[in-house]
Amino acid sequence: MNLLIIGAPGSGKGTMSDLLIKDYDIDHISTGDMLRNAVASKTPLGLQAKESMDAGILVSDEIVNGIISEHLSNCDKSKGFLFDGYPRTLSQAEAFKEILNKLGMKIDAVINLEIADEIVTKRALGRRTCPKCGTAYNIYFLPPKVENKCDVCGNELVTRKDDNAESFKVRLTEFHKNVKPIIEYYEKDGLVKNINADQTIEKQYADIKKSLEGIQ
Ligand code: AMP
Repeated sequence: MNLLIIGAPGSGKGTMSDLLIKDYDIDHISTGDMLRNAVASKTPLGLQAKESMDAGILVSDEIVNGIISEHLSNCDKSKGFLFDGYPRTLSQAEAFKEILNKLGMKIDAVINLEIADEIVTKRALGRRTCPKCGTAYNIYFLPPKVENKCDVCGNELVTRKDDNAESFKVRLTEFHKNVKPIIEYYEKDGLVKNINADQTIEKQYADIKKSLEGIQ
């Protein structure tokens, strides 16, 4: 099963993705993670992408389509995928269809997480992560026991570079500008599953599972 998950930054895509990949035994493909890794390892591609990422604007279609195409060409296609953060524009969606067609693949469902801007803003600006063990926190909704220290390993928590108020606002504006045509594009094929993302993790995930019933 090949799935897309779409939602504003802070809508819970990461949390829902973790549950989906375990449950359905599919691979998680996140262009945001791939790009952050490329930036951290200072690859030529990472150096190209860094400036746009720090400012919260989109990296060029050429770079992300290239990453996806290369990744899919080199991996086991029998397993199924969850695409997270890609496609982000209509032109990426069109390019993606061509990439999938060439590889004999298709998308089975598009999970669209719906949530108000005020809520995602608070969620994203409160986000903290442990750089050592990866445990995620939120100073508003899921604070660590000791301020700014990881409960698991005691390490100092960090804020993602693009989770500051200014860059987050840009990301949210970019998201709204681009998402509508993408949803309309996939609606034509009847693939979109609208999910209320302003509810508990359990309820939100149960709604997703229900929407996927009957899909192999
Ligand atoms: P994310 O973790 O998905 O919020 O992505 C973080 C940043 O990576 C975004 O703000 C963009 O700069 C870049 N990025 C991730 N996915 C894409 C994409 N599909 N197209 C363009 N830029 C992307």
